[in-house]
Amino acid sequence: MKYISTRGQAPALNFEEVLLAGLASDGGLYVPENLPTFSQEEIASWAGLSYAELAFKIISPFVNDCIDDADLKQMIDETYEGFNHSAVAPLKELGTNEWVLELFHGPTLAFKDFALQLLGRLMDHVLVKRNEHLVIMGATSGDTGSAAIEGCRHSKHVDIFILHPHNRVSEVQRRQMTTILDENVHNISLEGNFDDCQEMVKASFADQSFLKGMKLGAVNSINWARIMAQIVYYFSASLAVGGPHRPVAFSVPTGNFGDIFAGYLAKKMGLPITQLVVATNHNDILHRAISNNDMSKSELVHTLSPSMDIMVSSNFERMLFDIYDRDGAAIDDLMKRFKTESVQLDASRWDKMRELFDSCAVDDETTCQTIAAVHAETGYLLDPHTAIGVKAGRECNRDAAVPMIVLATAHPVKFPDAVLKANLESPDLPAHMQGLFEREEKLTVLDNDISVVQRFIAEHVHSES
Ligand SMILES: *Cc1c(COP(=O)(O)O)cnc(C)c1O
Repeated sequence: MKYISTRGQAPALNFEEVLLAGLASDGGLYVPENLPTFSQEEIASWAGLSYAELAFKIISPFVNDCIDDADLKQMIDETYEGFNHSAVAPLKELGTNEWVLELFHGPTLAFKDFALQLLGRLMDHVLVKRNEHLVIMGATSGDTGSAAIEGCRHSKHVDIFILHPHNRVSEVQRRQMTTILDENVHNISLEGNFDDCQEMVKASFADQSFLKGMKLGAVNSINWARIMAQIVYYFSASLAVGGPHRPVAFSVPTGNFGDIFAGYLAKKMGLPITQLVVATNHNDILHRAISNNDMSKSELVHTLSPSMDIMVSSNFERMLFDIYDRDGAAIDDLMKRFKTESVQLDASRWDKMRELFDSCAVDDETTCQTIAAVHAETGYLLDPHTAIGVKAGRECNRDAAVPMIVLATAHPVKFPDAVLKANLESPDLPAHMQGLFEREEKLTVLDNDISVVQRFIAEHVHSES
């Protein structure tokens, strides 16, 4: 399998190279040159498989020219054995044809564990094979950081630097990152917002001279391997409610457009999906782009769903690449203009986008109302991100006869503020996280200045290779 850049200039890479590369050298993102597709019969034949077995079927076509089947199988098995639920991604019924796909049974209680637990293993495997050391730099609005740190902390071949916006992640989120004291884990609390963190990571990929020849790797969803791993649960959820013969709809709480993009790929690979709902919070650029053809940045607002407080969604570029019939020059032009001005898609392109996605923005007040209402109706406690997905799924539902599956992206214990505002009690921390509030923390607060951050990284790499 070859991977090509959305901006058309960087060289095509194989899976191993894409795994370690992050952003393409032309500033674009890597996507598979061709997608594997599966027939309805083949998908139906997977009905009895375990989550790990299903993951192997879906992931192996993307990696099989680089990683042996037996090694891949072992890494996938180890990844999902570490989850705290035998079904890995269980489905819960909320109401008639309304389901919640619980993606928070991994070590850090958010869906990002699905990809990052595997990514850490894949990177380690490839780095050992190549005898290389990797410096990982990532930006987090809260959940990526802890999931990436959990995924990489045991690797002797990786130093990981995670930037989070100072005082803008929840205490549980921060402590999940800063209480990991392994020497190769470095938390940077940046005096800025998430977009500042993300921008700094992107700029560092574009000019890596500060690393004096060391290699920079990505754990954000610009890394293709993350998207790849997330395709799997769309298939598992569909199979659990009678798919592929019974089509399904998904509502996805969206920030960087990674998770929903994986759903779009599942559909292209043959899974019958009638509807994909993009659910945003007050930071609604994706909703405006899809519903009004208005791709304009506005001031970033901090909400009760901080993992979706994002203005510039990296993975939207992967979507636009397909919408523009994979014309890299057009995407290069569009993204360069978008840096400084508002952009609109050509009318026919926008029509295509609207055929593929519905969208809805949900404010904090409605989020809390939804948490309270669903709890009163069913006794089920939603986290604020998932509540946005539930509300958007209800608002955008095109066909009540089709199961609407809402991706539950985090456990409510991570976001007590929203739960308390809904006049409910925050649940207890799960057993493996007991003591979190008493543990020692390790972090460094740095100015929102790229030279300061890059100097810190260069001085703190432990590479012995
Ligand atoms: C990261 C995250 C999201 C957004 O996912 P994207 O792939 O960035 O769209 C939504 N909810 C939670 C809880 C998250 O951690």
